[in-house]
Amino acid sequence: MTDTGTVRIVILGGGFGGAYLAQSLQKYAGSHNLEIIIIDRNNFFVFYPLLVEAGTGSIEPRHCTVPIRDFARKSDLLMAEVKGLDLEEKSVRYRLIGDDQDRSIDYDHLVIALGSVTRILPENIVSGVREHAFEMKHMTDAVAVRDRSIELLELANATTDPVERKRLLHFIIVGGNVTGIEVVGELESFVRDATIMYRNLRREDCTFTVVELAPTILGILPEHLHQWAHRQLTKRGIQIYNGISVNEVHVDHVVTSEEKKIPCSTVIWTAGIAPNPILRQFDGLPLNKFGGLDCEGDYAAKGLENVWGLGDCACVPCPDGKPMPPLAQIAIRQAPQLAGNIVATIRGEATKPADVHVQGILVPLGRHRGVASLKGMRMEGFIAWAMWRAIYLLKTPGWRRRFRVAMDWFINLFCKRDYVQLGMIPASHREFHGQHHTGRSNEELGDSQQEA
Ligand SMILES: Cc1cc2nc3c(=O)[nH]c(=O)nc-3n(C[C@H](O)[C@H](O)[C@H](O)COP(=O)(O)OP(=O)(O)OC[C@H]3O[C@@H](n4cnc5c(N)ncnc54)[C@H](O)[C@@H]3O)c2cc1C
Repeated sequence: MTDTGTVRIVILGGGFGGAYLAQSLQKYAGSHNLEIIIIDRNNFFVFYPLLVEAGTGSIEPRHCTVPIRDFARKSDLLMAEVKGLDLEEKSVRYRLIGDDQDRSIDYDHLVIALGSVTRILPENIVSGVREHAFEMKHMTDAVAVRDRSIELLELANATTDPVERKRLLHFIIVGGNVTGIEVVGELESFVRDATIMYRNLRREDCTFTVVELAPTILGILPEHLHQWAHRQLTKRGIQIYNGISVNEVHVDHVVTSEEKKIPCSTVIWTAGIAPNPILRQFDGLPLNKFGGLDCEGDYAAKGLENVWGLGDCACVPCPDGKPMPPLAQIAIRQAPQLAGNIVATIRGEATKPADVHVQGILVPLGRHRGVASLKGMRMEGFIAWAMWRAIYLLKTPGWRRRFRVAMDWFINLFCKRDYVQLGMIPASHREFHGQHHTGRSNEELGDSQQEA
């Protein structure tokens, strides 16, 4: 507690978990004299469920971002990179974006909500991912994939060799769960619909392949739904390989676990996520074997006083002992429970156990189709897709943003998408070498490399 009697709560990460937590805590700010400070490298968070649509031009990329200052008005934001923690001194080291000096801030309560990164396996298991594959984790990833697709359409149109044209327009998505399937569904319609503008291209020149190690795609959904999705996608000419993985990613091909060489030019890696590797840099944090913050059932970091975790980077068990899955819908509902527990601790009262469950899974498949499993109801086809749009429109924070997204969708009913690049492919990738822009910090890249 500061000299003025204020309780300072520092939240690391202003994503889904951190921003919703700040909003929940604000309700207690006046009555409990709370000072709430969010530290995030961005001054916005991404509304992830709309990320793929933003990448493929169904909505304006800006419309799937939420400004943190606007969302949590009674909190302070430090737009900074979190650099270190001193758990004994109760302070956080950070560097403001654009500055070159580290600063520190003391806290009474610390919340770690630093999210996750794409899980990339060590080079000896899967090689070339970091150098040659795209991810789908940040706004920059979504826009980079769109820019890349447009560039390849242009190249393929100018290519006279039919084999090379086929390779240029072959997109491989590794990972057939929710994100991978959403990506392939949207990308297929985006790229194939674009061929109409190119004199030398036909829809059949474009190939889309999903490689999924599990025996089925969308294993999170009931059997009837994932089979329906499988049939829908294959009907659209999307190839699905189950039960195999990709072992090597090269500039112009991948090699599968069956030693099969598949020529392609774009690989999108959506095969799982891992807790933010920066947590491994912070001495004294209790981490589980996956690098996630090990928490008690009330969100408290194990063995630490007044340190809490939520969202993708934290492993918080439900009363039945199972960890909660890394989903936005979970982080959003964890936030008010954690706020209640922090306030209870300040008051000297007992905390309550975390209890959040998945309410439903909705997956858009593109071309106005989807699958949904929601509170015992199972739906597929247009109705599931419409429900996906309706639910996420209502969940989009703020009326202004909701209106903008709705207008984008409405306009798209009558106008075709703009096939313009937004300048997200760096020179290195243009030459089909080196890394694309991942949107991740050098530290994160360095850490995951070390982890690997
Ligand atoms: C493409 C895609 C689609 C998805 N669709 C759905 C969906 O439909 N439904 C659903 O429930 N979930 C969905 N998810 C999952 C969901 O987005 C996550 O579970 C959710 O964002 C987790 O919230 P979080 O606060 O833990 O992490 P995040 O929202 O990722 O927030 C973490 C924050 O920490 C910041 N940060 C990280 N490191 C640092 C650092 N060193 N310094 C400063 N700031 C830092 C980041 O900038 C970020 O703002 C999707 C995810 C993706 C990638």
